[in-house]
Amino acid sequence: MEKVLVVGAGGVGSVTVTKMAMHPEIFKEITLASRTVSKCEDIAANVKERTGVTIRTAQLDAMKVADTVALIKETGAELLVNLALPYQDLVLMDACLEAGIHYLDTANYEPEDEAKFEYKWQWAYQERFKKAGLTAILGAGFDPGVTSIMATWVRKHKLEGIRLIDVLDCNGGDNGKPFATNFNPEINIREVTAPARHWENGAWVETPAMTHKHEFDFPAVGKKNMYLMYHEELESLSTHFPEIERARFWMTFGDAYINHVTVLQNVGMTGIEPVMHNGQEIIPLQFLKTVLPDPSELGELTKGKTCIGDIITGPAKDGGAEKTYYIYNICDHEECYAEVGSQAVAYTTGVPAMIGAAMVMNGTWREPGVWNTEQLDPDAFMDMLNTDGLPWQVVELDGHPEF
Ligand code: NDP
Repeated sequence: MEKVLVVGAGGVGSVTVTKMAMHPEIFKEITLASRTVSKCEDIAANVKERTGVTIRTAQLDAMKVADTVALIKETGAELLVNLALPYQDLVLMDACLEAGIHYLDTANYEPEDEAKFEYKWQWAYQERFKKAGLTAILGAGFDPGVTSIMATWVRKHKLEGIRLIDVLDCNGGDNGKPFATNFNPEINIREVTAPARHWENGAWVETPAMTHKHEFDFPAVGKKNMYLMYHEELESLSTHFPEIERARFWMTFGDAYINHVTVLQNVGMTGIEPVMHNGQEIIPLQFLKTVLPDPSELGELTKGKTCIGDIITGPAKDGGAEKTYYIYNICDHEECYAEVGSQAVAYTTGVPAMIGAAMVMNGTWREPGVWNTEQLDPDAFMDMLNTDGLPWQVVELDGHPEF
């Protein structure tokens, strides 16, 4: 395989194609397509300047399956990497099946009018991909993505199984803006305003959004408040690793962020139902996205580090007793900007998408069917994290922390 089509020219897409261009031995021909072609052209110019590689660009409305199929045929792409929005997942999977190529994304499908974060729609494609001899990889960003692959690595090399898992996502960066999200504001706000849910003893436990907080001392970042949230990998991890007793997801937010989201929610600006405004139907959250800073332009302003990883407890490989491991990556916003021109949140998503794509291109992950990342062999992916900008560490803790 040599040719790849990337759909979506946002913060994440920009990092992924830049990193792909740094691996011409894997990605011999790269096409970047998106709704607004000028964004593809700007990214292509940045890629050319940084790497000397020319990538092709194209205008595409991914909601039109026939247009995507035509573009796949024209480019000869063998893998489609979906870095548009979760709303486009199913139509892009349909296009891949029709054109006969492999698929990879970083976020699960959501209907535009419901913030559901469920895999059921994409898992329903299993038989079709299997029958066609094609591979679809779901959720190959950082979380979901690396955090699930880290769990598989710990389960393969350190523990017999996973009893407790806490995914900890800390962004210790500061962009100097009173309020800005680090990736697509619409998706980010849908996530943080949804009720928190975690998996415990075979059932989901639901609590109101942003009510359960805990201070944690993150390596290289320091003490931050993290909040219990629902995140889509909890569904796939608890499905694929049925021994899990408790799975939770935590994300750090500063007080200013929480205050802004609370006010915006109280005044109705985070709503996803259409409202009439001056005779025109608008969706409040989409309007809010229009007036908020564009995350892809925050790179130059953002300083500090991210620290994302898992704390996992389970029976040790070497016999009986339980052990606890903390496996994580630390990423520096300014170093990411110097390397690819983006901040660390786009970088920590875009690099894993490139590595996941490399795994499909080189045949490491080519089993026909629809797979979440924790179902795949982690070793080659984890090696490439170390060589391609997201080195990780694993340390043994003295028991699972109480929080
Ligand atoms: P952006 O909003 O910055 O970029 C999305 C891009 O998709 C834009 O260029 C947009 O075009 C394009 N797009 C939207 N609709 C269409 C369409 N119908 N046809 C073609 N192109 C379209 O988002 P991000 O880069 O921040 O995020 C990209 C994806 O990554 C999202 O799905 C997000 O949920 C996911 N993500 C995953 C993470 C993880 O760790 N797993 C973390 C962060 C993000 P236009 O410019 O015209 O609007």
